[in-house]
Amino acid sequence: MASKLPLEFRLSRLTVESLRNLCDAQDVPGGSGLLKEHLVKFVLKNIDRRILEDFCRAQEETYFVENMAKAIKWATSRKIVEVDPESDYTLVNAVFTLRRSDGWEVYDIRFVNQTTDDIATSCECVDFREKAYFCPHQMAVLVRSLAEGLFTLDQWSGPMTSEAEDLILANVLGRRKRTK
Ligand SMILES: [Zn+2]
Repeated sequence: MASKLPLEFRLSRLTVESLRNLCDAQDVPGGSGLLKEHLVKFVLKNIDRRILEDFCRAQEETYFVENMAKAIKWATSRKIVEVDPESDYTLVNAVFTLRRSDGWEVYDIRFVNQTTDDIATSCECVDFREKAYFCPHQMAVLVRSLAEGLFTLDQWSGPMTSEAEDLILANVLGRRKRTK
């Protein structure tokens, strides 16, 4: 999953703890007392760019596959994921609703697919708005859309990883990945 986002932004959305772990793993001292903003700059200055890109990619893939596992469970519930029946391949509108111990999470999600190779997706949550993640709410809508045949995995041009694709094929579509 290649990212077009700037490296500094990708680092800034990781936790302080994971950035400190990276410094430890790379034997780079001096980062332990720094707060997020300074730690990101410190890491950029002291660790090789390629290592940082690999690290971000690994963290992003973990985010993706862990949340996809949750999303697959949520997508089976019509109370949690409600897709507008007018939705089709070109436009999906959905509402995600989940009860939390301290209240409700309610987000509007939208996929706009006007061309064959670019899809615009959005969610109202912080993970999407501030961190530009393809968040678990969007994943849940994606899974439901695939389960209902609004489009196929082949037609999906949005974010995906090989591991997450395997999860969807096995748990949602009841198939194994085609051997290439
Ligand atoms: Zn979201």
